Parts: sequence; C-alpha cells; structure tokens
Amino acid sequence: MANAILVLNAGSSSIKFTIFDHEAGNLHVRYEGQIEGIGTKPHFVAYADAGQPIHETSWANPPLGRGHAYALERLAAWLDPLLPEEGLIGVGHRVVHGGTRFSAPMRLDEALLHELEAFVSLAPLHQPANLAGIAAAMDFLPGVPNVACFDTAFHRTHPPVADRFAIPYDLYDEGVRRYGFHGLSYEYIAQALPTCAPKLAEGRVVVAHLGNGASMCALKAGRSHDSTMGFTALDGLPMGTRCGQIDPGVLIYLMQEKGMGAKQIEDLLYKRSGLLGLSGVSNDMRTLAASNDPRAADALDYFVYRIIRETGALAASLGGLDGFVFTAGIGENAANIRARVCEGLGWLGLQCDPAANAQHGPRISPPDSPVDVWVIPTDEARMIALHTLRVLV
Ligand code: AMP
Repeated sequence: MANAILVLNAGSSSIKFTIFDHEAGNLHVRYEGQIEGIGTKPHFVAYADAGQPIHETSWANPPLGRGHAYALERLAAWLDPLLPEEGLIGVGHRVVHGGTRFSAPMRLDEALLHELEAFVSLAPLHQPANLAGIAAAMDFLPGVPNVACFDTAFHRTHPPVADRFAIPYDLYDEGVRRYGFHGLSYEYIAQALPTCAPKLAEGRVVVAHLGNGASMCALKAGRSHDSTMGFTALDGLPMGTRCGQIDPGVLIYLMQEKGMGAKQIEDLLYKRSGLLGLSGVSNDMRTLAASNDPRAADALDYFVYRIIRETGALAASLGGLDGFVFTAGIGENAANIRARVCEGLGWLGLQCDPAANAQHGPRISPPDSPVDVWVIPTDEARMIALHTLRVLV
C-alpha cells in the first residue's frame, strides 16, 4: 500500500513542498523544500528530514504562464525515483480561498478546480497560484488523487455578526464579508492545545500567527470565533509588506488625489506597506531588530502596538481571555516581541517569565499568571497531510 503524501503550498513565485511518510497513523517528514523565483530565476532545493540539502538546481525561466507547471514537472521528475513503488497516497494542496461554500477539505476533480476559479477575484494574488499548482499536479502526477485544504474553512464557525461589514446587504450576499485566513495554522494549534494545555483548550484563547503574513484568531473551545483578517489577507495586523487595518477613506484619497488605479493601490498595500513601508529598511523581523535606523524601531513599535490593540478587541469578542498563543516565524522566535506584547497586555492578565521566554517556552507565563501564555510551533503542512489522509484513506 502507498504510504507517502505530498503536500504543496503554491504561492505566486514559489512552491513549498513536504513529503510525509505515513505509518500506523503517524506522519513523518521524509523530504521538504521549495522552488523559489518562479517567473524570474527558478531555484529548487530539497532537504532530507534532518535538514541537510540533498538536491539543488536552477533552470532558465520557461515561457510566461508556464512557471508553476514547469516547476511541478521538475519536482515530479526528482521525486519519482525516491518514492516507494506504490507511489503516493495523494497530494494535499493549500488553497487560500474556499468562499462560503467550502468548510472542509475536498477531493479535487476538474469540476471542483473550475469552481474554485470563482474565488480568484477574492484572492487575486494567492488563488491563481494555488490553482496552477493543482492543475500541474494533475498533469504530472497522473492517477494520484488531489485534496484541497482551505485557509478560510476553519473560520466558517464565526457568528454571523463577526463576518459582516456595515455596507448594503446585497454586497454581503455577493460574498463581500469577513472570511479570515491562516485557518490551517489555527486549526493545527487548536488540535495541539488539548495535548499541551487540556483545560485551556476548552477556554477562550487568542492565537497570534506572527510570520511574514500575520493575523490573530479568537478561539472559543477550539473553534474560530473571530479573526483579524477579513475579506482579504490584507486586514488586521501590519505584516512584512501588507498594511493591515486601514481606513477605507485612505483608498479614496489615493484614487482622487493621487490618481492611483486599482493595480497601483493593490501593489502599494500588498507589497510596499507593512513593516517594509513603515521602516523603509526591510520586511524581515530579524533585519529590523538588528537595524539602528529609528524608522525600523518605529515599525516594531507599530507592530507590537497593533497586536496589543487587536488582542483587546478579540478578548472583548470572546467575553474574556484564558490563554494566548504565539506562533509562526516571529511568534516562535522573537522573544523580545513576545515580552513587549505580554507587557502591553499585563492589564488583561498576561505575564511573561523571562527565563521561559528566552527558551521559547513552550509555556512562557509563570504558574500564577491569570492568562496562560504559550509558544506553540505551527505546522500547516502537517495539518494538510492529516486532512488529505482523512479524505482519502
Ligand atoms: P514565517 O512567514 O512564519 O516564515 O515568518 C517569517 C518572519 O519570521 C520573518 O519576519 C523573520 O524575520 C521572522 N523570524 C524568523 N526567525 C526569527 C528569529 N530567530 N528572530 C526573530 N524573527 C525571526
């Protein structure tokens, strides 16, 4: 019987992959890696489970629009001799948008792939790349089943009031509503909590996914109750290059006074804002933390300030707070950011034990802290592999 699962996370210029072995209900990473620079200078690197590179190659950029297909063809060719004779159980795909229709992972076929194209206008930067990855997997791994795992699905449990904008109702019906993203990360944390903190798993928890993309989710007994991200993955916290929450009047100003069109505004808000826009230095937390530029410090102040402010809002929507979880690249590694967030939320009951924080937890609050504070590494690829297994096996 086949026992390997391939997980693909296809972004606009990269494809990240993980190959898991599945044995007796356990998933073990066998290989992982990424192809970056799709559309410019493709570069493929694969690692064995212990982290050492086992394959590295580059190639000339294929004709426009063929980037993902060619990258997947290269990945499939590299993978073929490494797989067990029985091949793959299936391929699990991260799909950013499942609209209001998809609240669970789905086995893909041509018809579903076509249906998912309807959500391209809701996630124009991410959804086309996700779908290109699926189409390429169907072509280059014939006969292997594909499963779509949606980043929006975990948030389908929001109460309706959390998903509304106060604009005319027919727009809500048309799909202009708050969806929430990073759902696979939050789902992973929600299913990890009963093991590390069983009592907390039943309570009111804010999870902060602080990576290059950043958002927060309010969990009530393990289900998503609200999220800082809304209609698109732009809302809420400032991110590496995305603005986070902004007064829509700013967009009207940019159009009327600066003559900017939709594409220019999209580029500004997705690619030139956030930590990069504020600092003028970098989108990367490590670079900012090491910089002497006062604007880098201002960018970090704003990042921390907005996490504190949004936590207040999410705690209010939960009716109180029992726990707080840091995750993703910044949340898992940046002890100084965690300490500042806990300090700013001391009024809400968060406390931080400096020694535990320096070791990255897993629990960083002292035993008598009114709110438990944890650092839990997220694993979206594993979540996708688990979903893929559940759908196919
Ligand atoms: P992610 O998108 O989850 O991979 O997270 C990327 C972000 O995590 C970048 O801003 C990195 O600078 C940040 N990051 C990764 N490692 C560290 C670290 N050791 N200290 C501070 N920030 C880090």
